[in-house]
Amino acid sequence: MSKIDQLQKIISASDNIVFFGGAGVSTESGIPDFRSVDGLYHEQYQYPPETILSHTFYRNHTAEFFDFYKKKMICPEAKPNKAHSKLAELEQAGKLKAVVTQNIDGLHQMAGSKKVLELHGSVKRNYCERCKKFYDESFIMNSVGLPTCSCGGPVKPDVVLYEEGLDRDTMQQVASYISKADVLIVGGTSLVVYPAAGMIDYFRGSSLVLINRAATAADKKANLLIPDSIGEVLGQISV
Ligand code: ZN
Repeated sequence: MSKIDQLQKIISASDNIVFFGGAGVSTESGIPDFRSVDGLYHEQYQYPPETILSHTFYRNHTAEFFDFYKKKMICPEAKPNKAHSKLAELEQAGKLKAVVTQNIDGLHQMAGSKKVLELHGSVKRNYCERCKKFYDESFIMNSVGLPTCSCGGPVKPDVVLYEEGLDRDTMQQVASYISKADVLIVGGTSLVVYPAAGMIDYFRGSSLVLINRAATAADKKANLLIPDSIGEVLGQISV
C-alpha cells in the first residue's frame, strides 16, 4: 500500500484527528520561514531576525521592530494552500477536532477552520498595552510611526516574541486536544522549536503521522512517515 493510501485509511477510520503544523504549512503559501536555512537568516539585516523579534528588542528598538515586522512578518497577500483547505474540510466533516499551529498568519481561519489553536499568537490581533483595546492587521500596516491606541497607549502585536512565554490557556487546550486524539498528524515542522514541539508528547492515540520534507525529531515514534510536501500530501486525501 502506498503511503498516501495508508494515510487515507487512517483518516477515513477516525473522527478524532488533531493536526499539529509548523512553518512548512505557511511556506507553501509563500510566507518566509525565518528559522529555516532558506529563510530570512540568509538575508542581510543589521541584526538577526531572532534578535529583532525578541521582547528586549521590541522594548528598546520599537521603531526598528515595527519596520521589520511590517515588511517581513505581515503578508497580507498570502492565500491558504491545499493543506489549509483540506484541514478545513476535514473539520467540517466532523473528523478533525482542532488545528494546532506554530504559525502566526491566520491562514487556517482564512481557509475556513474554526478551532485553531495558535501557539505563537497571530499577526491578525493587536492590543493596546494600556487599555487592551483590539486593533486589526491593517491598523498596524497603516500606522505611521509607532502604532498608538486612541488612549495614547502602545499597540503590541498578539505574537509570542522570543523571550516571551506561550499563552497558558492555549497550551492547556492544546494538551487537552492532543491527549484525547486518536490520530495526530504533524506536518510542515521539524519539531525543533520548544516548548511548542514538546506538545506532541501529550499524544496517547493510535496513529502518529509525520509529514515533513526533512527529518524530524520524532521520526522514530511515527506510525507513518511521509517525507513530502504537506500541501501535496493532504491535497490527495479524500474527505
Ligand atoms: Zn488603549
